[in-house]
Amino acid sequence: MENSCLFCRIVAGEIPASIVHRTGTTVAFRDIDPKAPTHVLVIPVAHHANVVELAADPAAAADVLATAARVAEIEGLDDGFRVIFNTGAHGGQEVFHVHAHVVGGAPLGPMLA
Ligand code: C5P
Repeated sequence: MENSCLFCRIVAGEIPASIVHRTGTTVAFRDIDPKAPTHVLVIPVAHHANVVELAADPAAAADVLATAARVAEIEGLDDGFRVIFNTGAHGGQEVFHVHAHVVGGAPLGPMLA
C-alpha cells in the first residue's frame, strides 16, 4: 500500500468507489467518468505502477485478466468489449497504479479514431 496512491486508497476503502467485483488479489470498480455504457477499472491489490511492472508479476497479471473477464460476464458484455492499459505519457496514463479499463455495452468504433 502506498499512501499517496489514489487506487491503493480505494483498495483500502479510504476513498469510496462503486465496487463491481473483488477477489483476494484484485478489485474492480466503476470508472468515475465513464466513456462507455460499461466502464470498469480492474486493479491488482498490490501496487504496480504500470503494465510493464505488472508483466513482471505473472500471477498478478493473470489475476487482473481473469477479473476483467469476470467483469465482462457480470456486466453482460456478451457482444464484446475492450480491455485497455493506458501506459505512460503517450498512452495517456493519469493514475500510476496499473488498471485495466474494461469498456463495452455499445459498439466502440475503430480503436484509434
Ligand atoms: O488510464 P488512465 O490513468 O488515464 O485512467 C485513469 C482513470 O481513472 C480515468 O478514466 C478516471 O476517470 C478514473 N478515476 C476513477 N476514480 C477516481 C479517479 C480517477 O475512476 N477517483
